[in-house]
Amino acid sequence: MTLLDQSVTTRAMHGPIVRGALPGPGSAALLARQESRESNARVYGRHLPIAVEEASGPFVRDVDGNVFIDFLTGAGVLSLGHCHPELVEVATEQIGRFGHGLDLPSPAKDAFTTAQLSMLPAGMRDRMRVHFCGPTGANAVDAALKLCKTATGRGDVVAFSGGFHGTTHVAMAVTGNVATKAPVANLVPGVHVFPYSHCSDCPLELTRDTCATNCVALLERTLRDPNGGVVRPAAVLLELVQGEGGVVPGDLDFVRRVRALTRELDVPLVVDEVQTGCGRTGTWFAFEQYGIEPDVIVASKALSGIGQPVSIILYDERLDVWAPGAHTGTFRGNQVAFAAGARAVEIVRRDDVLGNVRARSEQVRGRLEVLRSHPWVRDVRGCGLMWGVELADPATGARAGELAGRVQARALRGGLIVELGGRDDCVVRLLPPLNVTAEVVDAACDILIEALTTP
Ligand code: PMP
Repeated sequence: MTLLDQSVTTRAMHGPIVRGALPGPGSAALLARQESRESNARVYGRHLPIAVEEASGPFVRDVDGNVFIDFLTGAGVLSLGHCHPELVEVATEQIGRFGHGLDLPSPAKDAFTTAQLSMLPAGMRDRMRVHFCGPTGANAVDAALKLCKTATGRGDVVAFSGGFHGTTHVAMAVTGNVATKAPVANLVPGVHVFPYSHCSDCPLELTRDTCATNCVALLERTLRDPNGGVVRPAAVLLELVQGEGGVVPGDLDFVRRVRALTRELDVPLVVDEVQTGCGRTGTWFAFEQYGIEPDVIVASKALSGIGQPVSIILYDERLDVWAPGAHTGTFRGNQVAFAAGARAVEIVRRDDVLGNVRARSEQVRGRLEVLRSHPWVRDVRGCGLMWGVELADPATGARAGELAGRVQARALRGGLIVELGGRDDCVVRLLPPLNVTAEVVDAACDILIEALTTP
């Protein structure tokens, strides 16, 4: 296999190749048309000024013929890269057979459900139920919280600072980002936000030597305190690695104590694995690495492996007290996603994709090590194939979102698509396909390092 030529792709695509300034003329024209016709709330084209013609494996080609390595992968959706040929084949076959089926059973749905349950740890498989949600992460978060409220008869929810759960009314209410919440009055009440274990920028201003995971101690004390002001919640909602929050893996002690506390108080623990799920962190779900068992798992993005929308919650059957129709939605029967998703699970097993995630993760760790001595780099952190480089002004400690934006633009000119995240967008994020090769990882790291170290 030649450099950056992935044999798994449908149409062989080679890259990166970037000729001339960005956006090229074709992309500029489509971006201008988009600007004149689409909403002011559009996002990605503002920072990644390309119009995409086609994509294959880890590559994206714009309408001007530039080819980029895609380490954004549709926000972590395309776990097996763009247009994986086996998934394209099974999806094409399925859409010609039966495309949409509400929540009626079908062979495709049955195979998908079997595949998803089979990926759970042995002890959980038999007691978890599946509910199919409207096909977005936010809709599944909504479903999870409604389920927990119904099952407990309680109304409040605990979420964590820096968390991201989507942008519907309820998902935004439990999300950290204040700027997006501020213009929307009367979000869902009863949400209590507690500090997350964001150790490089500790919310309690402690350091490793002075900390005894005080963030979770605050939660423990508050929920146990008869004068703590917070009633026993219906759910605690947790990301195990905050993705949009800037790639922040939850501290082991923090996560285990949240689990112990929620058990003690009989509060369902909901883990939002929309981004971390389906192998992104090196295990099928991230919670496996913490040695905990959640009560509810929210999954979406990479479930189909090919970008076909689908979302589910998996939950302990003792919570299954809601009534027929408690969470409906027309688009809960995407047979194409089910067929592709079942095949994606087979491919993950057959090709040891999780092993690849772990190996490539170590490669990224090693390659990005050099950045730790860069004065503007506050932290380099990651888990599996979710990596982030946090930038801060060495003189003031202020988050360096503007620099991160410049790094993103330089990386694009070098042929690499990366995302930003974290507070003030000061974290440069990598979300490669999970079957990415060592060659592509090396090429991408070269581009990122150059983008960061070029004055
Ligand atoms: N939860 C997490 C952890 C996410 O990362 C996202 C999307 N980035 C969502 C929920 C929302 O998913 P969607 O955009 O499909 O609503």
